[in-house]
Amino acid sequence: MSDSLVRSLEAILSPGQVLCNERARMDAYTVDVWLMARRDLYPPRVRPVAVLPDDTAEVARVMRWCHDAGVPVRIRGAGAGDTGGALPRRDGEVIVDTRRLRTRALAERDQVATVGVGWILLTVEEWLRRRAYTLGHLPASISCSSVGGFLANAGSGILSTRYGKLAENVVSLVVVLPDGEVLRTPRVRAHAMGPDLNSLFLGSEGIYGVVTEADLRLHRLTPLRLMALSFPSFGAGIAWGRRVTQLGLAPALIRLYDEEESRGLVAEGSDCIAVVGVDGVEAIARAEVACLRDEAQAAGARLLPDAVASDWYGRRMAPYFPPNSMESRDVLHGVVDFVARYTDIEACLAAVREELAGSYPELHVSAHCSHWLSYGTMAYLSFWSPVLPRGQALWTAYYSILERIFAGIRRHGALMNEHHGVGVKLRPFFARQYEESGVVTVLERLKQALDPRGLINAGNILEPGAAPPGAAEEARDDAG
Ligand SMILES: Cc1cc2nc3c(=O)[nH]c(=O)nc-3n(C[C@H](O)[C@H](O)[C@H](O)COP(=O)(O)OP(=O)(O)OC[C@H]3O[C@@H](n4cnc5c(N)ncnc54)[C@H](O)[C@@H]3O)c2cc1C
Repeated sequence: MSDSLVRSLEAILSPGQVLCNERARMDAYTVDVWLMARRDLYPPRVRPVAVLPDDTAEVARVMRWCHDAGVPVRIRGAGAGDTGGALPRRDGEVIVDTRRLRTRALAERDQVATVGVGWILLTVEEWLRRRAYTLGHLPASISCSSVGGFLANAGSGILSTRYGKLAENVVSLVVVLPDGEVLRTPRVRAHAMGPDLNSLFLGSEGIYGVVTEADLRLHRLTPLRLMALSFPSFGAGIAWGRRVTQLGLAPALIRLYDEEESRGLVAEGSDCIAVVGVDGVEAIARAEVACLRDEAQAAGARLLPDAVASDWYGRRMAPYFPPNSMESRDVLHGVVDFVARYTDIEACLAAVREELAGSYPELHVSAHCSHWLSYGTMAYLSFWSPVLPRGQALWTAYYSILERIFAGIRRHGALMNEHHGVGVKLRPFFARQYEESGVVTVLERLKQALDPRGLINAGNILEPGAAPPGAAEEARDDAG
């Protein structure tokens, strides 16, 4: 990284807003929660420089300068993604750290909040709850990820069955394009006046620009009525979930666990547990709870004591954080989620299990369904193995497991990945998933139009013909 790069950035912002040469601090920018980053296998050893802009205008000045000078840029939210997408991979890459982008305003009459992307989501949710509103977006990482990260990765939370993703609640966005131009999409969402440009930036992981601010639709905060059900099989639970969503019932939360994950929730039995939550206007919520319960009984389910549901809610984050999380154990592990139509979901899960059992008999595999749509549901698959290879062997094992999972998913037309983003991790599967659909061609042309030199968030999602991320030239093992 050159002194002149640092001096130029200091001139655009101020010396206090440019970070470099502080070893510990810069190392923090080169890690996220992806197994490969935590095992020091990705990204390559590079020396980036980070900038901390205070507002959209400052982001625009940095982007314009980098564009003119041909300097690559990496956008960083809170760095709790698990795809390597926020990690620099070239020396002298400029990290746009969004943490200081913290505008915040509430338009109560319109029930819309304007929020800077640098806020940790929990801070925004707490601010809104004090005013009896909610974003309806409660991911497990609410305390460690940013608003911008959730928009960029199109993440989901536990209440998505009613409220959708955070991205689906966007009314308008402010985005700094790769050349420093600022785009503000209409503050009333475009209806029949051309395509909705918000969608280009939601879930596109920063490859088309830096989102700096969003107007978000709010929901009234109401009590969440919880219940726990026990189904005789995963299939029976899925059939019930399909029926109630297709009837038009709108529970905020449906989390259905397979036999293995259910065993962690109740001491005995091999049934499949579902935790269900209903909120909204009280009279409607009460009627909805009664319908959900009747439908469950008709599907052969038992109602479990209320404590099962309230304990689950109170401890729902625990599996994802130390000391319980897989990340804190010396094991090979990962998660992959996928969306399938109801017609295919069980066959898809069976195919994935079959692929893995044939190749990795020692692998523990479990699943739950947590985001329900009228036409299908999302299965969140966790895998782990006590055998943890090192170095290049870990890349090989990890990607061959993902390959087997992908093969199972694709056999039945499901779509890999519902909410963690593609980043670098799933890039090898992205183009293959959309083979022959034309999706990749259009995304590449848009990239070419907005960022012809590929300077912004290079390597995320699109990189036609690139080697898989574990290939020697990118692995830390081989970097200087
Ligand atoms: C314990 C744990 C639990 C998790 N649970 C969930 C969950 O329940 N649901 C879920 O969806 N995810 C979950 N995740 C994953 C993670 O929280 C999400 O991927 C989240 O979106 C990452 O946000 P971040 O601020 O940490 O982003 P980062 O890791 O900093 O960045 C993620 C990607 O977004 C891009 N980006 C960030 N900000 C912007 C911006 N302003 N403009 C353009 N691009 C940007 C980055 O370049 C990168 O590609 C979990 C992670 C952990 C560690």
